[in-house]
Amino acid sequence: MKRSLVERLLSTRLQRRDLLIGGALTGLILARQWPRCLLAQTKFTDYPFTLGVASGEPLPDGVVLWTRLAPDPLNGGGMPTEDVAVIYTIATDAALQNVVRQDTAIAPAALGHSVHIEVSGLESDQDYWYRFEAGGETSPIGRTQTAPAPGAPIGQFRFAFASCQNYQDGFYTAYQNMAEENLDLVIHLGDYIYEGGINSEAVRQHNSPEIITLEDYRNRYALYKSDPNLKAAHAAFPWTFTWDDHEVDDNYAGFTPEDDQSTEAFAQRRAAAYQVYYEHMPLRASSIARGAFLQLYRRLSFGDLVSFNLLDTRQYRTDQPCDDTFGIRCEEAFSPAATMTGNRQENWLRSGLNHSNVRWNVIAQQTMFAQFNFGDSQLLPSDFFNPDQWDGYVVQRNRLIQFLQARKPSNPILITGDIHSSWVHDIKTDFDNPESETVGAEFVGASISSSFGDDEAESSAVVTAALPGNLHTQFFDGLNRGYVRCTVTPDIWQSDFRVVSTTQEDTAEVSTLASFVVENGRPGAQPA
Ligand code: FE
Ligand code: CA
Repeated sequence: MKRSLVERLLSTRLQRRDLLIGGALTGLILARQWPRCLLAQTKFTDYPFTLGVASGEPLPDGVVLWTRLAPDPLNGGGMPTEDVAVIYTIATDAALQNVVRQDTAIAPAALGHSVHIEVSGLESDQDYWYRFEAGGETSPIGRTQTAPAPGAPIGQFRFAFASCQNYQDGFYTAYQNMAEENLDLVIHLGDYIYEGGINSEAVRQHNSPEIITLEDYRNRYALYKSDPNLKAAHAAFPWTFTWDDHEVDDNYAGFTPEDDQSTEAFAQRRAAAYQVYYEHMPLRASSIARGAFLQLYRRLSFGDLVSFNLLDTRQYRTDQPCDDTFGIRCEEAFSPAATMTGNRQENWLRSGLNHSNVRWNVIAQQTMFAQFNFGDSQLLPSDFFNPDQWDGYVVQRNRLIQFLQARKPSNPILITGDIHSSWVHDIKTDFDNPESETVGAEFVGASISSSFGDDEAESSAVVTAALPGNLHTQFFDGLNRGYVRCTVTPDIWQSDFRVVSTTQEDTAEVSTLASFVVENGRPGAQPA
């Protein structure tokens, strides 16, 4: 049987990984040992580090360091067909004087000359700085940090979460300001790219019609990754990620695409999108795409304080109910077979929460978890709902809420993206009964740039009018773009909704629109 492209890539990469060389060897020796396919002394047509540097997936003993060589980023990368050797340096100071590691790695042509270095053997809870060199060129320096040791007592952890950065909808002034914050981690909750074509009316433009092929996706990621503010935020902090729909196709579910595309054609497209996602993110090798599959749900923990369960609610999801239209709720929304995560991931989540010993248990995911009846606005027919969020998967949501009520994992908090607006919800055992038990809190973050509907004022007015019918919703804003900064201590969780003054110009000021807290042992949010 013919091996898939990705299978071939995988075996190539495994061989390459075995070839990683100790620090003392020069590029010349490398070239002599693998003269056929590895260029150690490449001369690039242009500066190759156009997409910046990034780090991610912090563990107590290491992180993933990332870059991608792309002297001609918007035209396939502009690299030779050979693999290329890259030297990386890690130090404990910003000037890279106190070097703790210098080594050579491979940028495989088969993975778009991306570099993923899974560093281990570092000290826990430490800052590190890093840099790459290839072909006589030097990358910018990035800062990163390792996680505290498992169970280590942590007084404070600061992170920001972000989502939805449609390039055409605005500039990344949110990242410009985020890069100035003092953070231990950034979490991206999806819609890192958008797959759509060119909007000539937009403040800045996509670089092609809707993306379908491997090369299309590479060029689109390169466009997004070329943004200086995004690069600054990556260089400043370690990140972790999960994806939503637009990394592949709007509102796709499993192997069901948005538009008319055969399952076979869509599976090929999904495989290309998943591979290119890995290529552009500082992910571990465990998240290399295998054909049209990629293992993305995972858990990251920080001492005794906080644990993040990162969900993948697209790859295994059953198709949206009620024709996937924002409209009248139908019976299908209550189907017991409907799932956002698939059974395996749901069991993994429950088991992780059951065994967790940390103070704050975060479920980081894409679409709004709390119920919301848009029809309560009286501006829309009653029973108006969004079938793409958990309101379309009610039985599974109830199962998770009952699990939180019965098993009482310590302080469950949901963090959510997707909807391009800011919300705070209490998670109720019965959303229709305000007197029912509160089992957790949900913070939904504004988009980095994506707009809240075609007319933000109109969309916001609908939600605001519906608030009296949705008493578990404590806060809503649809007019501002930004990110959520969270400060976590053993006693209190605080979420600050950080919003920018504009995304239509390339610089902006940031301010805090609202702050909400959750007290340890007291489920639900309160104004700070
Ligand atoms: Fe989005
Ligand atoms: Ca989305």
